[in-house]
Amino acid sequence: MTTAKQLSGKTALITGSTSGIGLATAHVLAQHGANIVLHGLVADEEGQAMAKEFESSYGIQAMFNGANLAQPEAISALMDSAIRTVGAVDILVNNAGIQHTETLEAFPEEKWQAIIAINLSAVFFTMQKAIPTMKQKGWGRIINVASVHGLVASLKKSAYCAAKHGVVGVTKVAALENAEYGITANSICPGWVDTPLISAQIQDFADKQGIEYAQAKRDLVTTKQAIPDMAQPNQIGELILFLCTDAARNISGASLPIDGAWTAQ
Ligand code: NAD
Repeated sequence: MTTAKQLSGKTALITGSTSGIGLATAHVLAQHGANIVLHGLVADEEGQAMAKEFESSYGIQAMFNGANLAQPEAISALMDSAIRTVGAVDILVNNAGIQHTETLEAFPEEKWQAIIAINLSAVFFTMQKAIPTMKQKGWGRIINVASVHGLVASLKKSAYCAAKHGVVGVTKVAALENAEYGITANSICPGWVDTPLISAQIQDFADKQGIEYAQAKRDLVTTKQAIPDMAQPNQIGELILFLCTDAARNISGASLPIDGAWTAQ
């Protein structure tokens, strides 16, 4: 069965869709006919230009919002504006996230607060706003981009692991509470994905090992994964697309690894 244009008439809001996994996901969902709410921390002019580009490339409706997810009132305004403009957020992809690596003892308080706010609390607030209209329509897809760090831990990632384990947990609650309304909620748990988010970690590894960036990128993957390649962002987008299909209507409350067998070990 082809999935072409099967998301026509649906609107997808993807947080953090100006870069990396979110941007790739926006392209995949738009290719399949969804209207897109782009979101991320870029200048308004750049975001509006991206939305125009989406409209002309895919023949869909697109809008951009640059809400800072560290601020609950900005999240509220983002959700209200999306629902007012396009009627509903049928597909909510909570993807925006940040990283900071440091030992627990030395972890800066402001980084802890920012990671919890952006990577975890924002997921709660967007779901709280999106669910009522999903319920009214009797259909909704919530896909929260967690991480393998929602399932297992790594050194120097206390805030990130706490937030991503929290995402996995709150997603399960969303799945249970909305199971009778045609709404599914799932977490995706990627391993290494080739995006700007991990470039600081690769550089750090390269510096410590005294090797080139490209070599560090290859070596870092196999410290954790059995499959020696990083996933590409569009692979995460394709998994998100599958979760939006009718075939996936019974998948809910799951935490799906796409991690090159990282968590199989
Ligand atoms: P990225 O850095 O390429 O993109 C992050 C996006 O989030 C950008 O659009 C940015 O503008 C937005 N963002 C950051 N802070 C924000 C804020 N305060 N308010 C609003 N938007 C904000 O990152 P990515 O690698 O594409 O990561 C996307 C998600 O995938 C994150 O949640 C990340 O934790 C998760 N993830 C990434 C990897 C990986 O290896 N790259 C692995 C597992 C999980």
